[in-house]
Amino acid sequence: MIRAYKFLMRPTVGQAQALSEMLRDHCSLYNGALQERRDAYRHVSKTSITYGMQSAQLKEIRAFDPERQGRWSFSSQQATLRRLDKAFAGFFRRVKSGDKPGYPRFRGVNWFGAVDFPKDGDGCRWDSTPHDRVTRVRFQGVGHVKVNRHRPVVGKVKTVSVKREGKRWYVVLTAEQAEPEPLPVTGSVVGIDMGIANFLADSNGGFVPNPRHGRRAAAKLEAAQQALSRCKRRSNRRRKAVRKVADLHRRVRRQRLDHAHKTALDLVRQHDFIAHEDLRIRNMVKAPAPKPDPDQPGGFLPNGAAAKAGLNKSINDAGWGVFLTILTSKAESAGREVIAVDPRNTSRTCPRPECGYVAAKNRPTQDTFHCVACGHTAHADTVGATNVLRAGLVRRNARQG
Ligand SMILES: [Zn+2]
Repeated sequence: MIRAYKFLMRPTVGQAQALSEMLRDHCSLYNGALQERRDAYRHVSKTSITYGMQSAQLKEIRAFDPERQGRWSFSSQQATLRRLDKAFAGFFRRVKSGDKPGYPRFRGVNWFGAVDFPKDGDGCRWDSTPHDRVTRVRFQGVGHVKVNRHRPVVGKVKTVSVKREGKRWYVVLTAEQAEPEPLPVTGSVVGIDMGIANFLADSNGGFVPNPRHGRRAAAKLEAAQQALSRCKRRSNRRRKAVRKVADLHRRVRRQRLDHAHKTALDLVRQHDFIAHEDLRIRNMVKAPAPKPDPDQPGGFLPNGAAAKAGLNKSINDAGWGVFLTILTSKAESAGREVIAVDPRNTSRTCPRPECGYVAAKNRPTQDTFHCVACGHTAHADTVGATNVLRAGLVRRNARQG
């Protein structure tokens, strides 16, 4: 991936003078080469001059004029000749297609605003004083020019250009960025427990609430769906209602996605290692327990609450699935590690290493954890997240052998 950067330069008075002279001389090289092509084109022989022919003369031109043309980078002069060549290529292309093209024009020195260096290190050097706090760029014939590097340059610098805009001087870089940059190591590890009341709890005692707007939109969606069900078939009202439901659906999906992205990004920025519950195992073990029917041995009562919980659960599961997919992909490109662990017993095991007592009684309510062996008390989801982290680290260590 190629990225461009543009930074303001702060040349000294002498350097600004030299930069102006560099532009002036490149301009006259451009115009001279243009003149040569013009003359050849207008000559009865209709000779055409190529970039290769002009580039071959550079050595001579430089030797002939050491004070001016000989002072600047050979490669930057080649780049200027190539720019002219491009202008001609465009001209001939338009001639061929039957347009009325303008012949390439001479440039006034004020209309010649840039010099290109095709390769960093050849006639120029980006970050020429790396030991210094101030960033500089060196140009042949100019020296080390201070740069306002307002953001870091990622990757290997390929090309460097000098640009004049009004009274300001800029350096423009293109850099080849190795696919997504890994984030700096933080030394932090975390476990997460995905819940209903909160979207997730982490092992440091933090909570990420469910998307609030999402809930409001979900209520609207429910109302719209009910309105839709009351509409007559093939009526105008029905068509409108269908559109409204679709719009709300889209909005809910969008909000959930935004929330998932933001939550995943926060986690990936802060932690090198993230452990979460394996949703597939979780779905198998945490399904609502069926209620036995006392009148009919072996039968089960239909349980409204369980059905409702099941519905909520499936909605949440969809959200978590999306979230985990996003988390995993963000982590991968940032060089972070994500591990899924078996969630069984994570909510009923005492997280204190010296205790570790496992019992369903450790969780007297949905939110509280109270170890019946050692008395340790905490939010149940925080305990869950802590145990998820521990299991994740065990898996990681086992994997690393
Ligand atoms: Zn305990």
